[in-house]
Formats: sequence, structure tokens, C-alpha cells
Amino acid sequence: MGVIKVLYIDDEEHNLTSFKASFRRKYEIYTANSAQAAENILSAIPDIHVIISDQRMPQTTGVEFFKHLTQKFPDAIRILLTGYIDVHVLAEAVNEGHIYRYITKPWNELDIINSIQNAYALYKNRAALKEKINELQKANDELNRFIYSLSHELRSPLASALGAIQLARMEDLVPKESKAEEYWDIVEECCNKLDNNITNTLQYYKNNRTDTIYKKVDFDNLVQQLTTMHNHTIQGKETITFTTTINTKADFYNDDFRVEIILSNLISNAVKYQKPDNDNKKINIYIQTDDKQAVIAVQDNGLGIPEGHKDKIFNQFFRGNFEKGSGLGLFILKEALEKLNGTVALETAVDKGSTFTVTIPNIKTAL
Ligand code: ADP
Repeated sequence: MGVIKVLYIDDEEHNLTSFKASFRRKYEIYTANSAQAAENILSAIPDIHVIISDQRMPQTTGVEFFKHLTQKFPDAIRILLTGYIDVHVLAEAVNEGHIYRYITKPWNELDIINSIQNAYALYKNRAALKEKINELQKANDELNRFIYSLSHELRSPLASALGAIQLARMEDLVPKESKAEEYWDIVEECCNKLDNNITNTLQYYKNNRTDTIYKKVDFDNLVQQLTTMHNHTIQGKETITFTTTINTKADFYNDDFRVEIILSNLISNAVKYQKPDNDNKKINIYIQTDDKQAVIAVQDNGLGIPEGHKDKIFNQFFRGNFEKGSGLGLFILKEALEKLNGTVALETAVDKGSTFTVTIPNIKTAL
């Protein structure tokens, strides 16, 4: 165990002398006869572990002095020496964390030694915890950076592969109804699936870690971006008619990143779970905002969801019978909605289609 540094404050010189005489063999003792002198010592000497102060001082009280010190020197453990003190003042000081212990005067040596030893153990524990928190923070930051760069590096070659497939189709290099077309379809579907899984993992990760940042949500722009993005993944293969209705009765404020996650997952599912041989694939997006909330409905005329699956689709890794995704999309949606205090409702019928309706509070007035 290293040497324990103790600062003792008392305005009576002989108390300082006797304190020093009693403990100097055991501890590294510093003494001060005023709050100002004590602060000077704390600024000059690093890592003072324990501060013991008399409650009665000419310019301030021990409690006031400690209160003042908690901000400037939060690490040192503080012990109050008191002859007589108002019990309310003491209770408040202890409860607010300004004081670790108090010792009544006249003190006995064993009491002081015990208190210093315990205070030092607490100091060490807190320092170790602080170090662990710093290490965790660092590991967390590194993980953050790693995930971002990994997802980027994984997604960009996939985007190139998908682009190449689309080019091959546009340039008629893939003969229609041929075995080759079948193989290209499989490659494209796998790329899309992988891309979707990476996106979901990234969203899941970000949703858990990122703090909520409130902003005005630009639904026109958001829906435009998302429909273009999801349409792009099926370009050349199928066509889906998107119809968007946005009815803005009031500006809508909430966490735009999570709103995007929610909308993106609903649109992506509405695209994925279409009936393959339907020539009239449709997705309707309806959004209405008012002072209270935004209601977002995404309706498709796709495969629909069987009654028995309705309770399960929001579970982690649950996939219906289609094996098209990771089973994370709706789970992430639910988690994001929980963070925003929103709700989701589902109307669906097999072979007819599904409508997911999400309601998210408008926190405009709370800002
Ligand atoms: P996945 O990555 O499998 O799409 P989700 O959590 O987004 O995961 O969805 C879970 C399951 O819910 C899907 O596997 C599918 O069976 C069903 N599902 C979700 N949205 C729709 C939809 N619009 N139409 C039909 N089925 C859907």
C-alpha cells in the first residue's frame, strides 16, 4: 500500500501540532490553519487522499468548506471534526455527499486511524472504478469505429456487385427466361439479403447506443429517399407502385434517426413480402402529423401475415416462412419505438396484404 496523504485543517495551531505529532509516522501529513491555506495545499500537492477539517473556522464552517471543495477536488475523501453541530446540517452534508464521516471532538487516535484507513480504501476503490470506466469508454469508442468502418467496407463491394448485375440486365447480357437469369437472380437476392442484414445490424447497434437527438423531421424528404433506395434494390426485376400521402398539420419533432429506422424497416418489409407473381404490386404510405403525434401507415398488398405469426414477428430473429431477412427488422422497430414512446398496430390478411400503423408522439411542445 502506498503512503496515505492526509490534509488536516484547524484554526488552532496547537491542534495542528498535536495532530501532526500523533500521525506523522503513519501518514504523510499536511496541515492548514484556514480554508484558503488548505486550498493552496490541495492545488500544489497532487493526490491528497483524505481531508480532515474542523467544523469551526473563522471565515467558514467545515461543512461549507467541504461543499465548496466537492467540485474543485472531488476525489479526496472528506472527514469532519466536530465538537457540537446542528444535526440537520450534518445530515444534509452527509446525504449530499460532501462528507464521508464525522468524528466528534476530542478525538481519540484509534478513531482517526480507523476513519483514515476506511477513507483511503474508498478513495482507492473509486480510483479503480474510474480507471475501469475510462477503459470501457475507450473500448466502446474503438468498437464504434470498428463497426462503422466494417459496415462501410462490407457494404460498398456489395453495392458494386448489385450495380454490375443491374448493368448486365440493362445491356441485355442476361438472356430472359434462361438458366443464367435464374443464377443472376440468386446472386442478386443474396447480395440484397446480405446488404439488408448489415444495415439491420448497424441499425440495431446504433439504436442501442446512440442518445436521443430531437429534430424536426422532414417526412417529404425522408419518404422520397427511402422509396428511391428500396425501389433501387429491385430495379430491373419488378415494379412496385408507391403512393405517398403526407398531411402535415403541424411540424413534427422527434428523434429523426429512429423515425428513419422505423419507416425504413416498414418500407423494406413491404417491398420484400410482395407476392412474386402479382402484376399490380402496391405500397401506400400515409403520414399525418399534428401537434400531438405523427401517424405513419405503410400498407402493402403482399403476402400478408398468418394469424399465428402476428404475436411473434416483433421478436428478435423471428422470420416467417420466407427466409428473406434476418428477423431483426421489426424487433429493431419495436426497440426504437419504445425509446420514442410510440406504438405500432397491425392489420393483415394472408394473400391480401398488411398495414403497419405507427404512432409517435410529437415532442414539439416539450422542446
Ligand atoms: P426480416 O428480416 O425477416 O424481414 P422482420 O423482423 O422485419 O425480419 O420481420 C419478421 C417477419 O415478419 C418476416 O420474416 C415476415 O415473415 C413477417 N413480415 C414483416 N413484414 C411483413 C409484411 N409487410 N408482409 C408480410 N410479412 C411480413
